Amino acid sequence: MDLQRGFPTVPRPNEDIIEALTTCCVCGGKLVFKHETDFLALQVVEKGCCPACGIKTKENSFILQ
Ligand SMILES: [Zn+2]
Repeated sequence: MDLQRGFPTVPRPNEDIIEALTTCCVCGGKLVFKHETDFLALQVVEKGCCPACGIKTKENSFILQ
């Protein structure tokens, strides 16, 4: 058995994390992300929301370098 062939028995942690971050925890729908850039504060705010049930996810901010 060659496990390096990419069969589903081999988990892909990165994709799992991305899927968990982009999936609504309430209805399982696809989240939509908006990025708002505040150039004065040199900050990007990431806001996620679910169009199906309207839930909003935690905001993430990034400081621009
Ligand atoms: Zn939802």
